[in-house]
Amino acid sequence: MKEKTNLSVGVDLGTSNLLIYVEGQGTLFNEPSIIAIDKATGNVVSVGYEAAKLVGKTHNKVEVARPLQGGVISDIQLIREILLFTLDKIFLSNLESISRLLICIPSEITNTEKEAIVELGHGLGIQNTEIEQEIKAGALGSGVDIFAPRGHMVIDIGGGTTDFGILSLGEVVLSKSIKIAGDYFDKQIIDYVKTSHKLEIGNQTAERIKIELASLTGPFPVDEDGAPVVTEAMGRDLVTGLPRQILLHPEEIREVLLNCFDPIKSILLATLEETPPELAGDLVDSGILLTGGCSQIPGIKDYFTDIAQIPVYLSEVPLSAVIDGCKKMLKMTNRHFYSEL
Ligand code: ADP
Ligand code: MG
Repeated sequence: MKEKTNLSVGVDLGTSNLLIYVEGQGTLFNEPSIIAIDKATGNVVSVGYEAAKLVGKTHNKVEVARPLQGGVISDIQLIREILLFTLDKIFLSNLESISRLLICIPSEITNTEKEAIVELGHGLGIQNTEIEQEIKAGALGSGVDIFAPRGHMVIDIGGGTTDFGILSLGEVVLSKSIKIAGDYFDKQIIDYVKTSHKLEIGNQTAERIKIELASLTGPFPVDEDGAPVVTEAMGRDLVTGLPRQILLHPEEIREVLLNCFDPIKSILLATLEETPPELAGDLVDSGILLTGGCSQIPGIKDYFTDIAQIPVYLSEVPLSAVIDGCKKMLKMTNRHFYSEL
């Protein structure tokens, strides 16, 4: 893909996943936002899946890092490297063919950091670099008419943060963020297995357990014979130091998850309380949209409905809502979307 020039590019810079959309070509990159760097030379070894394979397995010459942690920039240089590496790969080193870059970022990023990201785009030779709030893009990408004079609420439960936003007339009226989301759930599963089963497990095992067993309400899953679904987890016995396997039950993981969701519940209630009354009234009809990877946890819809007492609906595209919204924004005029710093 080299022939075309003047292309618009959208980026969803998530804590867990980096997605890149190219106008007319679709989403050409959708991989973990992880980068591996050669410590001696500073050169990028790999990004995405290739870099993710190295997590926990590197020797001291290679460093594996996430450019965003807990929804905040851990290192702007790493963001530059990961974007440069992926864009270079997609555009076969022909970055001049990019005329516009729209980067969606978490709502909690400071103005200084926003400026740094815009500068970073300029540094790549893309003068028309804009930023947009991912909560807005996620709502748009999920099909919400965010431009209507009507309040909408979005909760994006991703890897590093859970973000809450009240939107009206195409703008974020109120937003809140908490560093409790997928990564934290994994960490709590690790702690639970350590305490209750005296077994040390890795991050990837914890994430798999979460995806296979997590739920917040409703019946626990059963197999064809009606037996409860359980999951094996391999780790290191804390006492003997030897590898050992255990079976985990969904009841155990639900308890862990419900504890994790307590603070999320508090922020949801605080957000509703602070929502201007006219917009709060709209939410009775428009409800709450849940998006982000962790909105796929079974029972989450009923869990939130029970708390907020208003309709809750799930994004049909939880993992791609932000990039889908980015794509829609790119199709619209600059006028609507230029974020003022
Ligand atoms: P970010 O925007 O922060 O990059 P994402 O919206 O891509 O995050 O979501 C990533 C998170 O979603 C990870 O913590 C991942 O483990 C979790 N996740 C992905 N699929 C599921 C699933 N089916 N059930 C529960 N959690 C999931
Ligand atoms: Mg996200």
